[in-house]
Amino acid sequence: GQRLGNYQLVRMLGKGGFAQVYLGEHIHLGTQAAIKVLHTRLSDSDIEAFRMEARTIARLVHPHIVRVLEFGVEGNTPFLVMEYAAEGTIRKQHSKGTILPLETITSYVQQISEALQYAHDQKVVHRDIKPENMLLDKQHRVLLSDFGIAVAVQSSQDPMARGIAGTATYMSPEQIKGKFSPASDQYALGIVVYEWLCGERPFQGSFTELCVQHLFASPPSLHEKVSEISPAIEKIVMRALAKEPAQRFQDIHTFAVALQEAYETRES
Ligand code: ADP
Ligand code: MG
Ligand code: MG
Repeated sequence: GQRLGNYQLVRMLGKGGFAQVYLGEHIHLGTQAAIKVLHTRLSDSDIEAFRMEARTIARLVHPHIVRVLEFGVEGNTPFLVMEYAAEGTIRKQHSKGTILPLETITSYVQQISEALQYAHDQKVVHRDIKPENMLLDKQHRVLLSDFGIAVAVQSSQDPMARGIAGTATYMSPEQIKGKFSPASDQYALGIVVYEWLCGERPFQGSFTELCVQHLFASPPSLHEKVSEISPAIEKIVMRALAKEPAQRFQDIHTFAVALQEAYETRES
């Protein structure tokens, strides 16, 4: 089999818009790790962006952010070695159209928002929040990953310099207009929560149709789709999905707390 640095590649774990990720086994230690390799033809700026991604995650040391173990270059191939998430992505765990129990949703949101609040406090906006980038380890703990297009909030860099990545499904109105802030991650998480609550994304269609809806359309009522969803929960999700970033919760932690409280109140 193929080898990258000290790792023997075992099998492919998944791929995204930019990269393939393999399960690797350390040739001396026998330990497992996930090895990310870009699948584009590499220009110098791709390699530099990939190194930036590695440096961003390496700097973010948090129990709910995937840990970077190493970064290396083998021949012309740069590779990122990270902690292996044995249960794969949340997307894989729950197939499309599945309604998740409120208990599971609030637990996921709690963990992801801790990771995001920490990143935001370090002035890093993830910008690519979606279930494909949320991993689960052996203990089913959530690990946020793929900081490939994450950007420092006060960066002078043009936020659109690397283009609009992938799907527009989870993209906030301000990102579509070329701006972003920590509130953009809250909006994306709001779309994810909406999808977990009712099994459907609020907006569907082509890239352009999605953009128009993010900018101008109100998300369809959750309660009308699933009658068990309480007005309190609906109100919280809709606030995270406000078109105007200033109308959303003040930060991602406040969003998570509101959801948790609405869940607990409903239980009693
Ligand atoms: P891209 O930047 O191309 O989206 P990702 O970093 O999101 O690449 O990785 C692509 C896919 O590889 C993920 O959606 C997931 O299925 C899998 N993957 C990524 N990192 C890990 C990991 N640490 N453990 C297990 N699987 C992973
Ligand atoms: Mg990804
Ligand atoms: Mg990426």
